[in-house]
Amino acid sequence: MTDEPFTLAPRRTSRPVYVGDVQVGGDAPVVVQTMTNTDTADARSTVEQVVRLADAGAEIVRVAVPDKRAAEALPDIVGRTPVPLIADIHFDHRLALASIEAGIHGLRLNPGNIRDATKVRQVVQAAKERGISIRIGVNEGSLPPIPALADGELPPPKTQRMVDAALWEIGILEEMGFEDIKLSLKAFDVPTMVTAYREIASRVPYPLHLGVTEAGTPGSGTVRSAVGIGVLLAEGIGDTIRVSLAADPVEELPVCWDILKSLNLRQRGATIVACPTCGRIEVDLIPLANQVEEHFKALGKPITVAVMGCVVNGPGESRDADVGLAAGKGKGAIFRKGEVVRTVREDEFFSALLEEGRKVIAERFGEDAATNGEASTVGEEVIALTPAASRTLPGRAARRG
Ligand code: SF4
Repeated sequence: MTDEPFTLAPRRTSRPVYVGDVQVGGDAPVVVQTMTNTDTADARSTVEQVVRLADAGAEIVRVAVPDKRAAEALPDIVGRTPVPLIADIHFDHRLALASIEAGIHGLRLNPGNIRDATKVRQVVQAAKERGISIRIGVNEGSLPPIPALADGELPPPKTQRMVDAALWEIGILEEMGFEDIKLSLKAFDVPTMVTAYREIASRVPYPLHLGVTEAGTPGSGTVRSAVGIGVLLAEGIGDTIRVSLAADPVEELPVCWDILKSLNLRQRGATIVACPTCGRIEVDLIPLANQVEEHFKALGKPITVAVMGCVVNGPGESRDADVGLAAGKGKGAIFRKGEVVRTVREDEFFSALLEEGRKVIAERFGEDAATNGEASTVGEEVIALTPAASRTLPGRAARRG
């Protein structure tokens, strides 16, 4: 056994592609992305939202390009974005061409609604000339029509239709020598989505963008996404993820990061271990756990803090965390790096955890990190990434170099 980060299965080998300066697939960590819900034609609102999403942990952001007005706003948006952008195109291949012309970093096409191979080829040729990648985004809700069936012939299962739709479009791209491809095969139904991804993962080498489509409201959508995406990631399948919630897209990002943190695939910000409380509890633990979470998340450093209500599991969890509390009646033991460092009264729980946590952060990241991060909500990951909102995208040649 080892304490090193692990995946439950070896990561599937995929061909790396780039969206701007962000590598997806190959040996890159699983990339977090989301999508704006502003009117893309409103460049100012869209850029503002992209910056908020980047600050919340999005490494790639997709924008809908449903019409000419949206395409016309892209040069302004692309010029001011802190993270690479993908244009989401349905139906009209001319919008893909306009997006490429505007300097977009990646495209998402849906094979279910650009069914003309000639038009797809025009887009691929332009993408190839500009060195941008294309995600083939299959969605169970917009699959190509089923070809005419012979008498008595059963229609293929939905997962097969999803895989066939992806392979059809992959074939067009590969015929043109284009391999900067990502794939998604999203469905609302988790077993359908998992089956489709497993199948395509065994058939082609391209990186996979995982997601449960239209997953729902934050409560049920989070669970549905965590199960679908989590099952696949645990099997080593998946190179980038998006959680789709009926909410402000900023809410999607903590869910993405918590999925990755749960599997020890990536770290960002604090991880709080808190007991659910039960009849043994003798302190007011739930408000304390929330207060601890709020403060350590604001510090933005990857640290694990345990807030435990009694001596049953408290010492064990606290020892495994960077900092921990095992509470008892009116007082509690404070742990740092596996050792009890002091015993404090209940009214000192929070300040003691904060103080010990700051010591751990200062040791790991320097004195400034233990104080400067307090005002920031931007997390910082062990796998170092340049803070998104302060990053300027390099030129295309440099990105691909
Ligand atoms: S740590 Fe103690 S109080 Fe908390 S749930 Fe477990 S047994 Fe109950």
